Amino acid sequence: VLGALGVVVPARRFPFAFSRLARALSEVAQVSAHLPAPEPLPLPPPAEVGPQVEVVEPPRELLEKANLQDFPALYRQSLEDPEGFWGDFAQGLLWARPWERVYDAESRAWFQGGLTNAALNALDRHLPERAQQVALLTLDGEGTLEKWTYRELHDLSARLAGVLKDLGVGPGDRVALYLPTGVEAAIAMLACARLGAVHMALPMGLGPEVLRQRLLKGEARLLIAADGYYLRGRFAPTRAAVEAALSGLDLPVLWHRRGTTEFLERAMEGKPQEALPVPSSHPLFLLHTSGSTGTPKGVVHGHGGYMVGVAWALRHLFDLKPGEVFHTTADLFWIVGHSFGLYAPLFLGGTSLLLEDRPDHPSPSAFYQRLERLGVRVLLTSPTVLRTLRRHGEARPTGLRLVGSVGEALAPEVWRWTRENLAWPLDNWWQTELGAPALATPLPLPAKPGFVGVPLPGVEARVVDGEGRILPPGERGHLVLLRAGPAQLVGLLGGENPWRGGLYLTGDLALMDEEGYFRILGRSEEVIKLGEARLGTAEVEAALLTHPQVAEAAAIGLPGEEGERLVLFVVPRTKDLPEELKPLLAEKLKAHLFRHLGPLGPVEVFFTESLPRTRSGKILRRLLKAELLGVDPGDTSGLEDGYGGGKDS
Ligand code: ATP
Ligand code: MG
Repeated sequence: VLGALGVVVPARRFPFAFSRLARALSEVAQVSAHLPAPEPLPLPPPAEVGPQVEVVEPPRELLEKANLQDFPALYRQSLEDPEGFWGDFAQGLLWARPWERVYDAESRAWFQGGLTNAALNALDRHLPERAQQVALLTLDGEGTLEKWTYRELHDLSARLAGVLKDLGVGPGDRVALYLPTGVEAAIAMLACARLGAVHMALPMGLGPEVLRQRLLKGEARLLIAADGYYLRGRFAPTRAAVEAALSGLDLPVLWHRRGTTEFLERAMEGKPQEALPVPSSHPLFLLHTSGSTGTPKGVVHGHGGYMVGVAWALRHLFDLKPGEVFHTTADLFWIVGHSFGLYAPLFLGGTSLLLEDRPDHPSPSAFYQRLERLGVRVLLTSPTVLRTLRRHGEARPTGLRLVGSVGEALAPEVWRWTRENLAWPLDNWWQTELGAPALATPLPLPAKPGFVGVPLPGVEARVVDGEGRILPPGERGHLVLLRAGPAQLVGLLGGENPWRGGLYLTGDLALMDEEGYFRILGRSEEVIKLGEARLGTAEVEAALLTHPQVAEAAAIGLPGEEGERLVLFVVPRTKDLPEELKPLLAEKLKAHLFRHLGPLGPVEVFFTESLPRTRSGKILRRLLKAELLGVDPGDTSGLEDGYGGGKDS
């Protein structure tokens, strides 16, 4: 069952008897079917929450203008009356034929019977009213800023669709994109959507072998590729890698030659295509997960539900007001870029800033200046970016109103830094498979730093033990979903169904408090087993981050004499920390950790200048573990370029 769920867990690392959990899944599902919808969220005064958890009220100006004034009631309605809740919101979008049913619990299908098209809603719906409004701001790796209006994006993508059609691309065909974040990628995605074709964006920097495998497994009919991209100000050529990947394959390629406008000119030669109305669950794109736990999985999202789910989240969770500029630091070729770099802002008729290079390049102050100069009010970024900014000290004023954080746990210390230096932090938990946030702390709920928040409308979540039994508040266990929102996947590459017996196993470790707030503790399969205790990586890392000398930290468990021993990788805040200070700092960090988490047995500390990351910015702990154990790290196609090994000293 776990295999079918796409969860690859080496036997020796099974936490909490994962196998028994798998067996118990269907039983729980039966039980869960009879569970009442969760009680509306009580919002007791902070005093009742316990001494160590801080409860922070959002600032008054955010509270007053919050969209979701009565969150508990809205949440309840989303589950009990999906027709009303989601149906009303979906009415605001354009449908070529109305749906017959908003949500079918049995098949988990959304907006069945409806015909629509994501490109129709991203572009055509806004014309002619927003013809002259800027839809995208693009800043490429050379520092060139360009503005693209709704009219321009519409015309470019409609004509590019004509070019693709002439190349034989039709509804359901997959088109691979190997393009950096920028207007070319955006119009390629929208052109595919128009035709009912399926875009499959591949991360820049993938080597020839992985690229080839993705093209083959994804059954691409066409490749649109750039001959290079910018990373930290440096140009990385890709033509040779693409050509090597293609050798012997009969796959046509449309090239985007960097530094030229050839691709856009070629696009303009096409005959404009109308957006093809397709069924709600018709595939819009295929996208791979980050590969944190193993080989990246290919996830398929559809037009209808996805459109409603991401638009709802940007409007109501991220609270984007009409006319405001939105920016996500995520690359377009990650789910966060798909959902919130491109689609949701356009569905809402907003303006999105797309950035090719890393946000902190050439410096954090350039990042702050950019946000202010371009009038960005809502930012969606990742803990990695926030930790990097924090390492450089105080921020300068940005004009931001809200800062979303997704991808990894947001440690309380980093939450606080964000609150003090940028704007109100909005942690949100989701996955490539879910398409849009599933857990978060929407305004007007108070935040509990360290807790991501509560299930969002449409989502039901539980924490279960290895047997699949629902655990009482405060206990650590596996995070499972009983229901997911409209933006959830329509399938996995390979045809598997991630739902088993009514349960969706997220692969994450969590606990829920008395008020229904969830804390994500790390990955289930990375749980650290210290004697009888079970610790999530995020718990240990968050405790370390409260030490003033810690900029970044990764915790892993390594097999020891009895059970596991804790191994820490620490990036000190001071660059080039003198060798002779390291043993002393290591001792201080251990003592610091014990003060926070109690005695943890033998601990080993390594200092390093950088941690291995996925291209989406997540710490790749399994690589650190493999390095120390001297074993094969497995699939590292998700690894970001430029990692040179974790153990400096
Ligand atoms: P793979 O599935 O290939 O191992 P991945 O799970 O990292 O990779 P994504 O879909 O990009 O791929 O990431 C989803 C995961 O990211 C979640 O399951 C969770 O572990 C982590 N995550 C996302 N948001 C948060 C958050 N706000 N807090 C804690 N963890 C988060
Ligand atoms: Mg995953």
